[in-house]
Amino acid sequence: MKGRKGLERSHYSVEIDGSLEGREVTIGGWIEDVRPLGSLLFLTVRDCKGLCQAVFKRGSVSDKLFVEALSVPKQSFVLIKGEVKRSKSKALPYEVDAKEFEVLNVAKHPLPLDPTGRVPANLDVRLDARPLALRNPVEAAVFKVKAGLLRAARRVLEEEGFIEVDTAKIIGAAAEGGAELFEVDYFGKKAYLAQSPQLYKEQLTLSLEKVYEIAHYFRAERSHTTRHLNEFLSLDIEAALYDKFDVMKVLEKIIVESVKEVRDLHKAEFEIIGYEPSVPKAPFEIITYRKALEELAAKGTAPSFGDDLDSEDLRRLGEIHKGYYFIIDWPLKLKPFYIRPHETDEFLSESFDLMYSWLELASGGQRIHERWLLEKRLKEAGLDMKSFEHHLKVFDWGMPPHSGWGLGVDRWTMVVTNRRNIRETVLYPRDDQRLVP
Ligand code: ATP
Ligand code: MG
Repeated sequence: MKGRKGLERSHYSVEIDGSLEGREVTIGGWIEDVRPLGSLLFLTVRDCKGLCQAVFKRGSVSDKLFVEALSVPKQSFVLIKGEVKRSKSKALPYEVDAKEFEVLNVAKHPLPLDPTGRVPANLDVRLDARPLALRNPVEAAVFKVKAGLLRAARRVLEEEGFIEVDTAKIIGAAAEGGAELFEVDYFGKKAYLAQSPQLYKEQLTLSLEKVYEIAHYFRAERSHTTRHLNEFLSLDIEAALYDKFDVMKVLEKIIVESVKEVRDLHKAEFEIIGYEPSVPKAPFEIITYRKALEELAAKGTAPSFGDDLDSEDLRRLGEIHKGYYFIIDWPLKLKPFYIRPHETDEFLSESFDLMYSWLELASGGQRIHERWLLEKRLKEAGLDMKSFEHHLKVFDWGMPPHSGWGLGVDRWTMVVTNRRNIRETVLYPRDDQRLVP
């Protein structure tokens, strides 16, 4: 696309190197810095890939252009045409000797934040002006890595023969009980926003066999933690004829291969972030829920058998297990109705969580595939059988045994990019205090 003066971007900042010396280029981006030095004027311009310097020389450009470049507000979007020359700067060894200059849009000051980060802004200010905050390379790097993780995970799942699906997010009945559901008015009827794709992905194993879905889900809980939001991104799989350990292997492979891939393809981003995740070693450690209680007891106190591990328990467990590990065989009463009771112990279930230190990243397990058992578990969970009829009838059509899991992608990105708050890995986070922007 051409500007009014006919300028058109020919190169990105990162391409301005020795191979272009002596050639004419047009760069485009946001003015980060304006530094006059006698008859010279240095402009640093940032685009989505990096930073580039342009020099205006009085005499070599008209006075009018010189003054225009000198007075343009920072963060305005500009195009600059000129010749690539060697510079005196170590950080940016080549620069553009400016000949022409065009302002495509002026940034109106004061801006809500300084995208260079020189004037620090707290998280709320950054979230209120998210697109502008993303001009800061550290913030942008987090989302480039997140996209890289999703790309890699998709590749692994395709290699493993999974089919990508997309299921409804407006649903007529609660998948796992009602408490966490957002209600919506659906033409006068009650409907809900999906809290997971659980029932649909299970159903699809009876024809597509191995499916995955990457989508947003909604939970109406006022959690006030650094790991919960009311809308989050989940990567889910479900596979016919896979048992608990089979789907744990798929999860482990995705984690290992994706971290390896983003380390290779996003070296620049990790350098900007100032952190590089190490490639996790497979196989991941597996401990049972029972063992976790023993470890906690050895460290002081442990919950009673059958109780959930609270944040404090998980923090202490995370001191023992620093990286990725699985906790398997949770008490049946802690798990949703569709989870399969354990083969050898009726108090336990064929379930697992994937942890990273203290943080739960994924939950999964083998599911019930027999209708009679599912009905029994629904009753025990006190759920209304009628509202599950659409789901239950599917189990009469040759439902295969199946297993699956759901991985919280925002939490996983926290781990890989070393962020402390899930709001830093979600573009437009939603919590009970934040519905805009
Ligand atoms: P937690 O115990 O941490 O609240 P959960 O056990 O309720 O999580 P699951 O229903 O097992 O969550 O969902 C699977 C995964 O989805 C979780 O391990 C987590 O990574 C992610 N997830 C669940 N709820 C949220 C949320 N409110 N915000 C962000 N991610 C979530
Ligand atoms: Mg869970």
